[in-house]
Amino acid sequence: MSENQTAVDGWDTDVAIVGGGPVGMGLAIELGQRGVRCVVVERYAQPQPIPKGQNLTQRTLEHFHFWGAEPQLRAARTIPPEYGIGGLTTYGTLLSTYHYNWLQRELVKPYYYTANERLPQYATEAVMRQRAAEIPAITTHFGWDVQHLSQNAEGVALRIAGRNGEGERHLRARYVVGCDGARSIVRDQSGIEQHRTDHDRMMVLLVFRSQGLHQLLERYPGKSFFNVLHPELKGYWKFFGRVDLGNTWFFHAPVPAGTTRDNFDFTAYVHEAVGESFDISFDHIGFWDLRFMLADRYRVGRVFIAGDAAHSHPPYGGYGVNSGLEDARNLGWKLAATLQGWGGKDLLDSYDAERRPVFDSTIRDFIAKSIEVDRDFLAAYDPTRDTAAFEAAWSDRATGAVGEVNSFEPNYEGSPVVIRLGGGEAFCSAKGSHRFEARAGHHLAPAEMAPGRNVYEALGPGFTLLAIGAEATAVQAFRDAAVSEGIPLTVLEAGSGAEAARYDASLVLVRPDQFVAWAGRPTTLDAAAARDLLATACGGLA
Ligand SMILES: Cc1cc2nc3c(=O)[nH]c(=O)nc-3n(C[C@H](O)[C@H](O)[C@H](O)COP(=O)(O)OP(=O)(O)OC[C@H]3O[C@@H](n4cnc5c(N)ncnc54)[C@H](O)[C@@H]3O)c2cc1C
Repeated sequence: MSENQTAVDGWDTDVAIVGGGPVGMGLAIELGQRGVRCVVVERYAQPQPIPKGQNLTQRTLEHFHFWGAEPQLRAARTIPPEYGIGGLTTYGTLLSTYHYNWLQRELVKPYYYTANERLPQYATEAVMRQRAAEIPAITTHFGWDVQHLSQNAEGVALRIAGRNGEGERHLRARYVVGCDGARSIVRDQSGIEQHRTDHDRMMVLLVFRSQGLHQLLERYPGKSFFNVLHPELKGYWKFFGRVDLGNTWFFHAPVPAGTTRDNFDFTAYVHEAVGESFDISFDHIGFWDLRFMLADRYRVGRVFIAGDAAHSHPPYGGYGVNSGLEDARNLGWKLAATLQGWGGKDLLDSYDAERRPVFDSTIRDFIAKSIEVDRDFLAAYDPTRDTAAFEAAWSDRATGAVGEVNSFEPNYEGSPVVIRLGGGEAFCSAKGSHRFEARAGHHLAPAEMAPGRNVYEALGPGFTLLAIGAEATAVQAFRDAAVSEGIPLTVLEAGSGAEAARYDASLVLVRPDQFVAWAGRPTTLDAAAARDLLATACGGLA
């Protein structure tokens, strides 16, 4: 247990984070880098060696860029970069002649500063633990369990217990964030209910070694994860992925209710899914229940939940860890702004207002929808019944797979802390489109502000104002308003002919999490207008 903090103002820490999985460690880094003192309490001394959460999106790598750990994360990958990280969907068996490219995330790469990555979650967690250890504001208690929490108007009290007989301790924090996974004690003890949709499916997770499978899959160069559709599974997948190159694999798929490690032939099941026999030696056989759960709120008073504690679902499409890390980015700057006195009274509530509808949409429009679409396709088409009709529909699916990657663009258009021009109803949603224009509530696409200098290398830790041929008086109005309200603001002026012209605005107000709070092309803008825009983006006046 590290003890590098002393009590300040009667509190042991500003933010206690329960759970040091990827989301808890991401939040700690976000807060710690902003100078917010935080304590992470994590049950396990070491990351658990289950190869889940492998597909990290371009957006997630942007988080690692800002967390000062992108090179370390890329160095920790278990498959050489030249081997590729693509996905493949097949029909019937893994070696079937019917297959197409799946989740081609490289198609949306131009809209993000960093490329995507793939590595087992325990390797990601190890990198995050190392990074957190470098930040003085973070204290970690690994090997400790949170057992109880209670809150009042001023703060939250936690009772924690060492797992190796170290006894009990009490911790008091101004805020607590439950990043403690799907069975969250923080969620349950703070009275947050969940909306739960059971699919009544028991799933197996196998981790196995096989060089034979590696040889068989040499026919699919550059592919690391594989989704086998089979009519009998009614839209649920047989899902394979590489854990390292040439040896270790994971596989998850539905199994009959009541399956145990001892009453089922897992070797035959894997061989059937591949369509051929090969050497296989199991390292891990575990089970999980396929269900969707979304918390009915992400905040109660001084307690918040994030990551799988707030939303859990089958790992179809790799939305879990990526969504959880975005929760951490969204909540992190808002907690820091509130604790540092420049966050307005509504800022913390905007975490729920932005992130919960986005995940609701992620379930509805992407994960559950993919199961329904696959089920309908498998019921309607069968190559043994009508080969031509099947092949035409299969080819349409291959084209449609591109659409899924393009339209997954989480955005906060309906947020109370973004300022849209024009009227009309707006919502926060996972569904959108990738564009270069700066749009309020959307992720900022990268662009060069001057030759060789990308905006992502120059954004400030607070708000950033991009000035692209803007009126000098308007830029000064923002500077003055930021100083008078105590809001950290960096101003970046674009050079002439800069790529930033594609933002299609002369002024872009960018939040600390790289979402656009406001964008416009005003002819005049005075100090009062600039102050109103900044105050709204900060959740009202502090
Ligand atoms: C088989 C499988 C494959 C997956 N594949 C993918 C994928 O490819 N892509 C993707 O994005 N997602 C994937 N996921 C989902 C992803 O793993 C989760 O979304 C991710 O782990 C969520 O991170 P988290 O930090 O919120 O929760 P967790 O990873 O569950 O971490 C919670 C942490 O809290 C700790 N904890 C819990 N209770 C307490 C307590 N009382 N006191 C102290 N500590 C506590 C736990 O020990 C744990 O370390 C997969 C999941 C599974 C099961």
